[in-house]
Amino acid sequence: MAVDGFGRRIDYLRISVTDRCNLRCVYCMPPDGVPWKDPATVLSFEEIERFAAAAVAEGISKIRLTGGEPLVRKGIVGHIERLRAMTGIEAIALTTNATLLPKMAKDLHAAGLERVNISLDSLDPEVYAKVTRGGKLADALAGIDAAFDAGMHPVKINVVVVRALDQDLVSFARLTMDRPIHIRFIEYMPVGGEGEQTVGGACSSESSAGDWTIEDHVPSDEILTQLNAACLAAGLGELAPVPRDEAPGGWGPASYYRLPGALGTIGIISPLSHHFCGECNRLRLTADGKLRMCLFSDNELDARAVLREGSADDVRALIRAALAAKPESHQMRVGTVRRMSQIGG
Ligand code: SAM
Repeated sequence: MAVDGFGRRIDYLRISVTDRCNLRCVYCMPPDGVPWKDPATVLSFEEIERFAAAAVAEGISKIRLTGGEPLVRKGIVGHIERLRAMTGIEAIALTTNATLLPKMAKDLHAAGLERVNISLDSLDPEVYAKVTRGGKLADALAGIDAAFDAGMHPVKINVVVVRALDQDLVSFARLTMDRPIHIRFIEYMPVGGEGEQTVGGACSSESSAGDWTIEDHVPSDEILTQLNAACLAAGLGELAPVPRDEAPGGWGPASYYRLPGALGTIGIISPLSHHFCGECNRLRLTADGKLRMCLFSDNELDARAVLREGSADDVRALIRAALAAKPESHQMRVGTVRRMSQIGG
């Protein structure tokens, strides 16, 4: 079992398999994207698998693949199959924008992918196109259907709530009525853009990720109060808390609610307003092989160098060093050097 310096059990590893993405979400990337990492600096699947094996030996049992967009990396299905086959891995999950799921979901599920988190910030085609800078809502919706058809479970939808986007949250709540979809509203986080010029809110037409402002951050208590009022006004009834043991099995810190008669649930994730560092259970490996101990801290260990020059024991020692260096809590610092697309969320 892996335990960090503050007694927290760390059993969850998020691996970014690429910094490349087929969308350009306004709060995640600048309009022209970010320069892609030199492929020579990106970990090969073989290197990631060696890292995962070392992590499992140190007590990691859950792996989530993320990106960039993980499904744009060639060979991802075979990679998932090999990770899933490792003794000690309980489950593999994926965070994706879902646009490639229509053609990949069946193969991914057959390879051992059970859990999928789909990022979707609006159910209005125009707002979706604006947020993703050109994405088609129909592709993401087809991806959700494909995940269900392939038998994935649970299917969760991540919605980042940004004030300037004026999102219709009730439209998401409605989705939970007829299918076991789990919507999670996530507070907009101040990641990326450190040292870059800021020109206003990330969602104004001229600006880009890194222009995080407190005005765009909607605290989770406000999200919940407004959503509840809007659900009542729409005749959907009142949100009731879901007891922890009935909540959709999660590896993270969402609080769950349910509308009367709904098959799915609504979760709220508040990394800033009610930070949950005391329950933090994860490490992150970036596509270029840096081991991050905290989403909000640029303090990283060079796993790539150890994977390329060291032994399996050296990799395990690095993971133990990361556990020892994991901070007790995040610093609420606005901005990190890496953008979210270069960390993986
Ligand atoms: N491309 C995949 C996707 O769309 O899910 C995986 C990578 S994406 C960086 C992972 C998650 O980070 C997405 O759910 C995205 O909405 C979220 N994200 C990106 N920037 C964010 C921010 N500033 N605050 C909160 N969530 C953010």
